[in-house]
Amino acid sequence: MDRRNFFKIVSTVSAGVATTACSSNKSDALTPLLVPEHEIIPGEEQWHPSVCSECSAGCGVIVRIMEGERIIERSGQKFRERVACVKKIEGNPLDPVSGGRLCARGHAALQSLYNPDRVRGPMRRSSERGKAEFHSISWSEAIATVADKLAQAHSSDPAGILFLTTPQAGTRTLTIQHFLASIGAPPPLTSSIAAFASERKAADMAFGWKGLPRYDLAHARYALGVGADFVSGWVSPVYYARQFGQFRQGRPGIRGKLVHADSRMSLTAASADEWLPLRPGAEPHFLIAITRLLLDEKLVRNASQLPAAVNDSIARANLPDLIRATGIDEARIRRVARELGESEAPIVIAGASVLHTNSVQALLAAHYLNLLLGNIGQTGGVLPPYPRPVSFPESASPQNPNIAETLKRAQLLMLDGDNPLYSLPKGSGIAQALTNIRTIVSFGSFIDDTAAYADAILPDHHALESESALIPAVANSSVAINIGVPFIRPLYDTRAIDQTLGELAQKINAPFETVSARNLVTPLLETGETWDQIARQGGLWRENGAATPGSKPLFEKLEWGDAAFDGTPDQFPFIFQPYPSLQYQDGRGANLPWMQELPDPTSSSMWGVPVEVDAQTAVRLNIATGDWVRLESAHGALEAPAYVHPAALPGVVSMAIGEGHAHYGRYASGKGANPLSILAPVWDHSTGALASGATRVRLARLEKKPEELIQFSPSDREQGRWGYR
Ligand code: SF4
Repeated sequence: MDRRNFFKIVSTVSAGVATTACSSNKSDALTPLLVPEHEIIPGEEQWHPSVCSECSAGCGVIVRIMEGERIIERSGQKFRERVACVKKIEGNPLDPVSGGRLCARGHAALQSLYNPDRVRGPMRRSSERGKAEFHSISWSEAIATVADKLAQAHSSDPAGILFLTTPQAGTRTLTIQHFLASIGAPPPLTSSIAAFASERKAADMAFGWKGLPRYDLAHARYALGVGADFVSGWVSPVYYARQFGQFRQGRPGIRGKLVHADSRMSLTAASADEWLPLRPGAEPHFLIAITRLLLDEKLVRNASQLPAAVNDSIARANLPDLIRATGIDEARIRRVARELGESEAPIVIAGASVLHTNSVQALLAAHYLNLLLGNIGQTGGVLPPYPRPVSFPESASPQNPNIAETLKRAQLLMLDGDNPLYSLPKGSGIAQALTNIRTIVSFGSFIDDTAAYADAILPDHHALESESALIPAVANSSVAINIGVPFIRPLYDTRAIDQTLGELAQKINAPFETVSARNLVTPLLETGETWDQIARQGGLWRENGAATPGSKPLFEKLEWGDAAFDGTPDQFPFIFQPYPSLQYQDGRGANLPWMQELPDPTSSSMWGVPVEVDAQTAVRLNIATGDWVRLESAHGALEAPAYVHPAALPGVVSMAIGEGHAHYGRYASGKGANPLSILAPVWDHSTGALASGATRVRLARLEKKPEELIQFSPSDREQGRWGYR
């Protein structure tokens, strides 16, 4: 869709944007409600720009609303009330991230707006922590109660105030950062596995880049993916799926080749021309072997830029040992290295969809490899992050090596959609830490595992009911800020978090100012641009300028070692890989019925995720798809159905993250198992992030079969040739 057509469809809304954005005079006639089709009055649709907040990618969306009516009863009398019904969410075609597309979770954001389990107003805990029992209170009581606790924590030690939020950058994060600064508390952190802390750390170490590098896959000819499931749950799925489409089919006569090295046949591996089954934790070995082969065969373009110490380390490496560690045939590695070196536009996209203790080393090695390929800052290569006015929340504080340690020292915990009780393993002592925290306050829209421990809930509006500006994780532009202004009245008695924080700050006389989307955008406007124009199109974007000149490496050392695994191979013979999936990513999508219903791309399972078991192990342990198995680590156990995956690596079992919430509404509570819960508390020391791939487990078939594994695909259901029994 071009700009002209875009403005045709949003033209009916522009006045609404101006009204809601420029004044507080919102239309009282518009109250959101998911109205059945037969109750909709046939009429004109309106499309309104907004932002998707279902993950940190920050896609711009447009929202279709239609006018409807419902019957309400007041004082025994029935009334007809006009309502604005949100019917559909699509990608904003002007947004450089989504380009008019969305992932499944973006479409399902409709179900978070109209979710029957949304918190409808302020509440106070009415029984013991963790039981998720609350009763309603007024906003004045809620503010007074929390302000009192905040004042106590503030006067005793502001360092004991911990704010956990989602890994997004935008006005919300900036507002929280300002609030914490105003009370002298440390900056917000996140426990989510989708913070991509290692990717940001390696980019910072290699080039001093602050943020996530952008891989210009669309203009590359040959791509080597390593550990980054970039068309599924990694960094920005819609952006990279679009880039991948362009790489494959967007250029007449050119079809890019993707080779993907990964320890699981992920969605990216399944979409590749060739998959290299890599041993878990051998990513640095693989990347250094490829680099060494390129240097030996003189297939690099930029050898002079490689720091001498890095060159020496690679030259001293024992190539046969490196290749042996990968588990991949030497001839294949040599061929891939040659193809990569000979391509006219090669790129290496490395990430840590499953985090190992040596992932930062692997990502650093990938940056040096791209440097040697001469693609840093070049079209079709690795582009630096675009400048952003907001930083991402980190996974650890400077004082504490990881979030679990930070939580143990907290006196007052504030939660904004972050769910550490789900994201952190039981072995980290998270449940005890939550029990010991004096006061817990949640601003979330749902009662999740951790919010069930809260003393008070002060619910925020839904993203579609709020004003916000989100800065996308990656975008093909030099400036990208996606903007949503409210166009429907909040459905429930919720309050914008900046208003709530403002009132709390006022109660303790803290000098706090909120950050609005308009405040963030206005200084960036150029002559002739107005805030109303930007709000009407849903964002401020600037085209990429000329390709950035190659960046010089800052870090002049390359070390690597084997990944650490908790548990001995004789007691725990399998390496366990919990991975972020398309449906649930870090677990947040599990309360959306469309996501529960979406067939898993690998197993086609619905309303549950199985444990992926390789065929040899399945034969040995007499496991068939649909049998129940028990996975046990030194730190816990879970039970789940098995899926015999013909492409799973022997000795490696994998499971999507998402199920197994103790509390998260009717669609997710008490369903399935949480793979993160049984992990060893092993952390990546350079970032403080949980090393999600560092746990060994044992596997046993269970005799009982408490539930059927529901599979969409008939061949999967019938097991067919993969039944193994
Ligand atoms: S990638 Fe993230 S931000 Fe974009 S549509 Fe999907 S869930 Fe929303």
